[in-house]
Amino acid sequence: MSVVFALANQKGGVGKTTTTVSLAAALAARGQRVLVVDADPQANATSALGARALDSGALYESLVDEAPLLPAIQPTVTPGVSIVPTSPALAGAEVELVSVMAREFRMKRALETVRDHFDIILIDCPPSLGLITVNALAAADEVIIPVQCEYFALEGLSHLSNTVELVQRNLNPNLKLRGVLLTMYDARTNLSREVEAEVRRHFHNTFRAVIPRSIRLSEAPSHGAPVQQYDPASAGAIAYNQFADELLAQINTGLPVSGGAHGA
Ligand code: ATP
Ligand code: MG
Repeated sequence: MSVVFALANQKGGVGKTTTTVSLAAALAARGQRVLVVDADPQANATSALGARALDSGALYESLVDEAPLLPAIQPTVTPGVSIVPTSPALAGAEVELVSVMAREFRMKRALETVRDHFDIILIDCPPSLGLITVNALAAADEVIIPVQCEYFALEGLSHLSNTVELVQRNLNPNLKLRGVLLTMYDARTNLSREVEAEVRRHFHNTFRAVIPRSIRLSEAPSHGAPVQQYDPASAGAIAYNQFADELLAQINTGLPVSGGAHGA
């Protein structure tokens, strides 16, 4: 049985893609068969994994034209990690799906045809709560919310929690909030510590693993490889490995996850 995770936060630049790519590599190194679904028209995950962005984009065709997804899956530079690449054309799906029946379930249907080939599927969401993110939440078993350790970190999280609850009520009653991941933590600043305390107070399922601000993490995408390949000894690589261990331990022990967010 595979588990589908949506990495979502409508706030831009909080580490969704970095987390998707680095977590994928860490999970694959732990023997998991991983599929990354690049659901962001910016196609950052596609290039960060050294994959080829197709002209129209595999995900676009599968969402809008219901093209079969399996032939669109590509291997990546990382053994054990495959990808559904995307291209800027995906932005059009947001508009073109509006008039389609059961438009919220296109991604779910597409993923159902490939789930058996993978242990873990990671959907890298765009920075919006539009139809593509709703499709991802409808297709997912669980949500992971990366949160940047910055001022305003919690701003917008109540909106995201509301969206998750709306999806739970109307589209996907089994959707669980697996947890919040603190990213770009800077141990030298009081701000990072304050944000961490605040986030942990609001979200009891904040992961123990914390991702530090690491130059290696920001450099890796320009080399078209996850940080685990670019610099496996870096603090960023180690932190994402710890996160993968924590996540796998939770999944394997069947640790309960909350049905929604607390407070915030
Ligand atoms: P978007 O909302 O645009 O899709 P995102 O949430 O996917 O953004 P990323 O692209 O992962 O965020 O990260 C934003 C920027 O911050 C990128 O340039 C990335 O390289 C950098 N970055 C992410 N995590 C870290 C980190 N822990 N340390 C240093 N830089 C980081
Ligand atoms: Mg991104």
